[in-house]
Amino acid sequence: MIDTAAIRADFPVLARQVRGEPLIYLDSAATSQRPIQVIEAERDFYARLNAAVHRGTHALGEEATDAYEAARDAVSRFVGGGEIVWTKNATEALNLVAYALQNTTLDGGPLALREGDEIVITEAEHHANLVPWQQLARRTGATLKWLGLTDDGQIDLSTLDRITERTRVAAFTHVSNVTGAISPVAEIVKAARAVGALIVLDACQSVPHMPVNLVELGVDVAAFSAHKMLGPTGVGALWARPGLLDQFPPFITGGSMVEVVTMENTTFLPPPARFEAGSQATAQVAAWTAAVEYLERIGMANIAEHEAELTAHCVAGITQIEGVRLLGPTKGGIGVVAFDVDGVHPHDVSQFLDAGGIEVRAGHHCAQPIHRRLGVRSSSRASFGVHTTPAEIDAFLDRLSEVRRYFGVIS
Ligand code: PLP
Repeated sequence: MIDTAAIRADFPVLARQVRGEPLIYLDSAATSQRPIQVIEAERDFYARLNAAVHRGTHALGEEATDAYEAARDAVSRFVGGGEIVWTKNATEALNLVAYALQNTTLDGGPLALREGDEIVITEAEHHANLVPWQQLARRTGATLKWLGLTDDGQIDLSTLDRITERTRVAAFTHVSNVTGAISPVAEIVKAARAVGALIVLDACQSVPHMPVNLVELGVDVAAFSAHKMLGPTGVGALWARPGLLDQFPPFITGGSMVEVVTMENTTFLPPPARFEAGSQATAQVAAWTAAVEYLERIGMANIAEHEAELTAHCVAGITQIEGVRLLGPTKGGIGVVAFDVDGVHPHDVSQFLDAGGIEVRAGHHCAQPIHRRLGVRSSSRASFGVHTTPAEIDAFLDRLSEVRRYFGVIS
């Protein structure tokens, strides 16, 4: 059990009203709200120790660097250890990996993909873990394949044999940002490991909502963003198992990632600096520590239990509303519930809910293929955070049950 009343007091935005109603924020999967501890931590960086990191030979520079590197330790600890590279967001982290896997400086090396190689993803992917692989396949002549989905949007393990001896990369989401379904990580890792594929996990929707130990999961690289886990906007993490990044070529080049530069040549720093060219989002990185500590204080197991209960409560309610179809599993999902309202466009659903102070997402949620697979172009999505309460879900369900009448689909 977590103390949602105490937690809610930490989130200033929850005190506001929307359209004259108390705010019910059900869009944490898009971006989470921030507790005051995180807002203050970012402010504190600017107020007390703002300076360029890894450059200044002065006290401020040292303190800023310490805060920046302490965040790396905190985020790494939070996911079970391993190396962390700061990126702009999870999308950039995944692009970095896709770039490394085609870069010609690795010619002849173990990582560069070639014609005949295969990349396997799933039909459930967010575009961030789909488009970079599609583009990589185009650039290298490799073939993109994918694991299929069951009718309730879960990864169909009968398609696991699409991972073959030719598979060089297996990239998949840990938790779907549309259905909330948790992927069968162990099975996919086992199949990918057996053929020596690089295993890439999109952990954007898992790391904020449940205990995740990336080392124990046995993946090679992973990506997630601070802004989805109560942290600042503008910073993400590429996580890698120790030693792997040594094999990756630089991605963005320039200052702060070099050893010696002549007019003819450049030698590069080892990771993580090799991948952190130019001035970084220092205050945001430093404040990510506060988000990690906040989540750790509550306990990820407690958060997962809370959010699984909310999800089950929401799913049970949605399946009882006539004309509303759940897009996802009835059991086992976490944090996210998508649905289709018969006869009402998701944008109208969202606006109707918004008029009652309830904020949900409408659209394809950057995941068009899974919507196509589930037979819709777009959907509405409610998603939860550590501050969400069952009463908020009840208010959402009450209003949702009015939407078809409001739009004249039923009388
Ligand atoms: N992967 C998943 C599953 C997501 O939900 C998101 C964001 O919605 C992303 C990747 C991309 O994250 P970001 O926009 O922070 O790069």
